Amino acid sequence: MPDDWKNRREMTQDEVAAQARALGVREGGVLLLHTSYRAARPVAGGPAGLIAALRDALGPQGTLAVPCWTGDGDAPFDPETTPAAEDLGVVPETLRRLPGARRSAHPFAFAAIGPRADEIVNTPMLFPAHAPGSPVAKVHDLGGQVLLAGCGHDANTSLHLAELIGGAPYRIRHHVTVMDAGAPRRIEFDENDSCCALFARADGWLRAAGLQREGLIGHAPSRLFDAQGAVRLAAQQVRRDPLIFLHPAEAGCAECDLARASLG
Ligand SMILES: [Zn+2]
Repeated sequence: MPDDWKNRREMTQDEVAAQARALGVREGGVLLLHTSYRAARPVAGGPAGLIAALRDALGPQGTLAVPCWTGDGDAPFDPETTPAAEDLGVVPETLRRLPGARRSAHPFAFAAIGPRADEIVNTPMLFPAHAPGSPVAKVHDLGGQVLLAGCGHDANTSLHLAELIGGAPYRIRHHVTVMDAGAPRRIEFDENDSCCALFARADGWLRAAGLQREGLIGHAPSRLFDAQGAVRLAAQQVRRDPLIFLHPAEAGCAECDLARASLG
């Protein structure tokens, strides 16, 4: 299985741009990308080629954004040198290094490239990280689209915003380290978090509402939807059942159990 991609045909950037347009990526819009390059490959030019193809579909007035936070809570965050978390895949680390790309100055960083990049990434450090005013909320406020290319809604950061808007009560203690007056400072905080596997419920809500387009980006099965529609639907579900994204206790999910334990 791991080598299956070697038998795949390399897609040109023009082909991938055409896929993105056919899926519904809006020219001149804001697009938040969550992706597994492994699922999409091979694309001519590699991860940078995938980025170039999506920027082609967005056009010169479009903005491409990615989550680009650190995966290392113990190391002081430096937007210039701290790599994007490995579990975000290779694309955010590639995008943040492109000429003209911007990255937030805090550990919950997003990176973006295009005319709206500064608006998206230049946000204060917020706790929880994905609250209104955060980069993911900026994408939402700007009427942005979200593209999950080769990953599912478990990677959909916009659903953390929906949890907060809908009033999800659980929190998991995390920490980050920042430089403060020349010295590292550890900050502990409570994040609305879980294993996120049940974010997959959003597939059903979005499909039923006709708000999710599905197709291929490169070789990756992909989903495209408006951030506002997804957040509105998910927040409604959270209001109805605040624990809808948590595995039940009998499932034995350590992360969801931790989230549930925070309810006291
Ligand atoms: Zn779970």
